[in-house]
Amino acid sequence: QTIYLKDYTPPAYLVDSVHLTFKLAPTTTRVIARIAFRPNPQAQSREFFLHGEQLRLISAAIDGQPVTPDVTPTGLTCAVPNTPFIFESEVEISPQTNTALEGLYMSNGMYCTQCEAEGFRKITYYPDRPDVMAVFTVRIEGDLPVLLSNGNPVAKGEGWAEWHDPWPKPAYLFALVGGNLVNHADSFTTMEGRDVALNIWVRPGDDEHKCAFGMGALKASMKWDEDVYGRAYDLDIFNIVAVDDFNMGAMENKGLNIFNSSAVLASAETATDANFERIEAIIAHEYFHNWTGNRITCRDWFQLCLKEGLTVFRDQQFTGDMRGHAAKRIDDAVVLRAHQFREDGGPLAHPVRPASFVEINNFYTVTVYEKGAEIIGMLKRLVGDDGYKKALDLYFDRHDGDAATIEDWLRVFEDATGRDLTQFALWYAQAGTPRVTVTDAFDNGNYQLTLTQMTPPTPGQPEKAAMHIPVAVGLLDNAGKEIVPTRILELTEPVQTFTFEGLAGKPVASILRGFSAPVILDHTQTNAQRAFLLAHDTDPFNRWDAGRALAQDVLHDMVRDDKVPDAAFFDGLAAVLRDDRLDPAFRALVLGLPSQDDTAQALVDAGQTPDPTAIFQAHEALGLQIAQHLQDTLPRIYAQMAVTGPYTPDAKSAGKRALGNRVLALMSKIDGGRQAAAQYAEADNMTQQLAALGALLNIGKGLDELTAFETQWQHDRLVMDKWFGLQVTCAGPENTANVAARLTAHPAFTMKNPNRFRAVFGALKANAAGFHDPSGASYDLLADWLIKLDALNPQTTARMVTSFDTWKRYDTNRQDKMRAALGRIAGTPSLSRDTTEMVTRILG
Ligand code: ZN
Repeated sequence: QTIYLKDYTPPAYLVDSVHLTFKLAPTTTRVIARIAFRPNPQAQSREFFLHGEQLRLISAAIDGQPVTPDVTPTGLTCAVPNTPFIFESEVEISPQTNTALEGLYMSNGMYCTQCEAEGFRKITYYPDRPDVMAVFTVRIEGDLPVLLSNGNPVAKGEGWAEWHDPWPKPAYLFALVGGNLVNHADSFTTMEGRDVALNIWVRPGDDEHKCAFGMGALKASMKWDEDVYGRAYDLDIFNIVAVDDFNMGAMENKGLNIFNSSAVLASAETATDANFERIEAIIAHEYFHNWTGNRITCRDWFQLCLKEGLTVFRDQQFTGDMRGHAAKRIDDAVVLRAHQFREDGGPLAHPVRPASFVEINNFYTVTVYEKGAEIIGMLKRLVGDDGYKKALDLYFDRHDGDAATIEDWLRVFEDATGRDLTQFALWYAQAGTPRVTVTDAFDNGNYQLTLTQMTPPTPGQPEKAAMHIPVAVGLLDNAGKEIVPTRILELTEPVQTFTFEGLAGKPVASILRGFSAPVILDHTQTNAQRAFLLAHDTDPFNRWDAGRALAQDVLHDMVRDDKVPDAAFFDGLAAVLRDDRLDPAFRALVLGLPSQDDTAQALVDAGQTPDPTAIFQAHEALGLQIAQHLQDTLPRIYAQMAVTGPYTPDAKSAGKRALGNRVLALMSKIDGGRQAAAQYAEADNMTQQLAALGALLNIGKGLDELTAFETQWQHDRLVMDKWFGLQVTCAGPENTANVAARLTAHPAFTMKNPNRFRAVFGALKANAAGFHDPSGASYDLLADWLIKLDALNPQTTARMVTSFDTWKRYDTNRQDKMRAALGRIAGTPSLSRDTTEMVTRILG
């Protein structure tokens, strides 16, 4: 059944308050609800419908009188008075057997919940929609030392606890946790003078020593939101709980954030620099949701980007402030191009605000999140920093306590800045990545830049209108000096010419600086021009991107014509690598080649059929040639990048390690792994240990280290996820499916844990040549496991089936095999609604 944005109607009844009592038991938890309803004066209908799924109704009453509602698999209806009334019910649920990890479930003996988007209806009968906001009071009874819910603690005793959340909230923000847990405690005093108790809750044992970094990140986030957005925390306590079995990264439940343990737990020995940065960002993200998501929530799930796009944008700003904006912008662009452009260019393309869905969980996508964040960035660029600040202040002022829409959001910007955003609003409605083509001319001191835009058709949207695209441009002279600093050109027409006057000679244009819009820039340049920008551009993003485009062109030529790479490429790389004035993190990014999937996409964009095997070979060959060209420089840089003293995850040390480890991977291609083996032996932190192991496995060595690693880390599930994943990542193309299959037979493999499943199968997808091995072995293996997983966990299955979303790119052999795998999944009896929707869309 498809749900449409255009069909939205206000709720028939509103909820003033909810009292919930939980009597916890693994397979027979009782949930007693007492809900104060009142007719919604805004409503068109008087039908009383409560969502409810997989609930056993024990009893129900209205104003104390027992009633017998009509119950269906999706909810109940019942005759109700025309005036405010109290609805009571008691239901029974079974957390222990809930393997979907949605609603109330158990993870390693701990009770926990995940309600977003529509999981609350698996807990009790309720109007489970975000525009119904209510004050919750919760009593938990259970023989467990720690019992948590939203809001502030009210009272507790032996085997029970009561919580009250004074802020009205939708049901998707409800949370409950019960377990044998210990807390890493701290506190924070808000700018308003409120003392807030902070806790990170984990199971006793090793995890207790992995909370300090997350706690620091939480305090930094709280301070940052006060300083930058003027937003303070609003309860007396803020709890975070680490859970091993979790479908996503984390969840912003009011006052009780629940985290995938991989997104909060870290220590020097067990987490990499990348893990630390991700944890810091996710803690910030969930914390920032308290204002952008919780205090102001979404009217309906079509508005998901209202909270997610904005909150991602905020966490990106935060990470930039903490760790440097240039590297952060590059990282974000890499993710956007690799994942969002791929989604936008394939069968799963959808608008940032979709017009319809079958299963909302299928729309927690890179498009809604990351492209949604890009829209906020463009808005900020268009109205300026002051305009943005005014608009955000107005947003919080006007909509605090609301369940709002994208229209509300845009109106705030229009009212605060006087700009007309009618055309800009298309970014929310039109799917597909716009292509901007550049041509230029120089005449008599005038430089003319002509930009042409085109957005390709996407499923359900054959015709596209011109978008409002901010294109940041700067000009350099041919000595590399900047003669026109960055300015924003507003591209609103299909074709538009912009003129720069009074120039002494034809400049070199640096276009789409800072990746000012999520578009594909079609700018034909020679290798020499790209190398020039790589050497001279004052905009760090475009400097990096010039190198990236150069690498992409080189790879393209190698795959297509077996062409020898241009010397300009190696020289440009060497110059950046040796430039000590450049930040090591930046140099590491320049040294990173495009992924094999990026190369495949670039070939598709050029109208060719990519051959993943040939792409793999070109990448290998280019890596070796880079190593040979830089041979003399590499050991010196490697030595320079050594970080002395105890490990710290700060950006500066992490940047040095990032460059050192890129260099190590290159050195390994010519020194037989000598240096990598030495680094492995000496490593006192996971970043160095894992990078060394990867460098060894990539050259077909490291089997002893692999065994030693397993012995050393078998007790630590997050580290073992790395062990599982790395072997698949580093397997050769013909061997990848075998390696993955062998790992699924390992005693520590379990498909009930999404992290472990993703460790193997996420890596299988990411190993492009291995996944697309022409035998089809990887396709079959993934399909077999997705069919098994769907019966347990539809959400994760539906997400991972997107591994097949590029099937139309490839040759007929691969297409046929992928289509067969998808057909097999589609034909599985009682396939979940989640996976059915995804497979149907992918097959088109
Ligand atoms: Zn979020």
